[in-house]
Amino acid sequence: MVRAYLIHLASRLFHILKPMNPTCLFCKIVAGEAKASIVYQDDLVTAFRDIHPVAPTHILIVPNRHIESVNQAEAADASALGSLFLAAQKIALAENIHQGGYRLIVNTGPHGGQTIFHLHMHLIGGQRMKHPMG
Ligand code: AMP
Ligand code: ZN
Repeated sequence: MVRAYLIHLASRLFHILKPMNPTCLFCKIVAGEAKASIVYQDDLVTAFRDIHPVAPTHILIVPNRHIESVNQAEAADASALGSLFLAAQKIALAENIHQGGYRLIVNTGPHGGQTIFHLHMHLIGGQRMKHPMG
């Protein structure tokens, strides 16, 4: 019982202290070590403008902690993952696209079209978009 609790505690501590990935562009943006147009940041997530916007509003929202993709997310990441949606809601309001609506996309792995392996949510809006399922 005590042993299981200690293991749980150690795993939580490791999770909190896990350092940024020094080769990851989005980790560097979160840490302020790479340039980006940051629009929102809290203790769990950071949001910045995509450098190749596909719509008038195109923002990336990322967990501050390095998580490669949805495939690597753990139960301990649940708050950060939920915060991606709550940040999207706040930013959509700030960008004045909340009424028109917007699209949230999380590309995962090669078949999903993921090119940067730090989990991120695209917030895209400001114009009517074609339905992705055709
Ligand atoms: P994905 O293809 O889903 O992995 O999305 C990666 C996104 O990151 C693309 O939309 C890129 O335009 C965007 N991107 C790449 N480098 C940067 C950067 N330095 N700052 C902002 N967005 C970037
Ligand atoms: Zn990273």
